[in-house]
Amino acid sequence: MSMDCALFEAFAKTLEAEVLTEEPLKNHCSFKIGGPAERLVIPKKESAVIQTVQFARENNVPLTVLGNGSNVLIRDEGLRGIVLKLAGGLCSLAHTGDGTISAGAGLSLKKLCMFAEERSLTGLEFAYGIPGSVGGAVYMNAGAYGGEIKNVLAGVRTVSLTDGSVREYPAGQLSLSYRHTPFMETKEIITAAHFRLTPGDKDAITQQMRTLLAKRKASQPLEYPSAGSTFKRPQVGYAAAMIEQCGLKGLRVGGAEVSRKHAGFVLNTDNASFEDVRKLMEQIQSRVFAETGVMLEPEVEIL
Ligand SMILES: Cc1cc2nc3c(=O)[nH]c(=O)nc-3n(C[C@H](O)[C@H](O)[C@H](O)COP(=O)(O)OP(=O)(O)OC[C@H]3O[C@@H](n4cnc5c(N)ncnc54)[C@H](O)[C@@H]3O)c2cc1C
Repeated sequence: MSMDCALFEAFAKTLEAEVLTEEPLKNHCSFKIGGPAERLVIPKKESAVIQTVQFARENNVPLTVLGNGSNVLIRDEGLRGIVLKLAGGLCSLAHTGDGTISAGAGLSLKKLCMFAEERSLTGLEFAYGIPGSVGGAVYMNAGAYGGEIKNVLAGVRTVSLTDGSVREYPAGQLSLSYRHTPFMETKEIITAAHFRLTPGDKDAITQQMRTLLAKRKASQPLEYPSAGSTFKRPQVGYAAAMIEQCGLKGLRVGGAEVSRKHAGFVLNTDNASFEDVRKLMEQIQSRVFAETGVMLEPEVEIL
């Protein structure tokens, strides 16, 4: 459903946010695929998130939440209504002195990790090379190299999509598991998160961050647009190993290709469309299923 433009313009004037019209979403995601957002809103304050939720509800306007766009595949026809992009806005960062860091949902994980490093706090080194926002990482329970957000999460602050109310959850109340969080069902908007870290040795923290980043660069095709690992780790084995064993490295549909460097990555090597990637993902799933009996589940979220 399209929205009433005059009504939105009047509302947008009251909003502490950057507002863009018919903004190409390929410029806001790591896959570099996706048509325009009817309106892209980047809130500068949590109050702007609440106001946007209320406007969308009252006027029956679809609302899509985006972080840094590093785990999404967006349709070529784009998204109608409002896309609320948290990354770049809500970037607060504070150390409360007891090993707890509080960060706005729009802050990059990289900045969060560097902030912890500067204060000799250990626990977030695994996240240094993950190209997401704090909110996106919490939503996905992002993880790498044996680390996971849930191991360092102390609490989450959200805005309800139902009524715009603010909620605070201690991490103990949240059931987080491999690439799954309750926010996937409740569809709350994460506006901030608190992380509990441990005092450590600054040089060791720096060294670990460098080592893991180097491992990433050596094993991942970071020179091409992608959304990282396309599929979740199945209950048995690894998605990338299965895709490779099925001989699918280099398989192409249009401008989308299974990486030859890391079979878990689908790349946009030549102006791939949404359909190119979707069809390639389906081909991978059916070939892997036929040969191994395992149905790979997408990790990438389709918007
Ligand atoms: C090169 C590369 C390497 C990667 N490596 C890893 C890795 O090692 N480990 C890993 O776990 N992931 C990895 N990823 C995937 C991705 O970076 C993570 O999933 C990341 O946490 C996504 O964060 P984002 O801000 O980009 O979220 P987005 O991609 O913008 O959004 C992902 C989902 O989260 C929701 N969302 C985002 N922000 C919020 C919010 N504030 N409140 C509510 N919902 C929200 C969106 O609606 C969407 O459903 C990689 C991606 C790339 C491109």
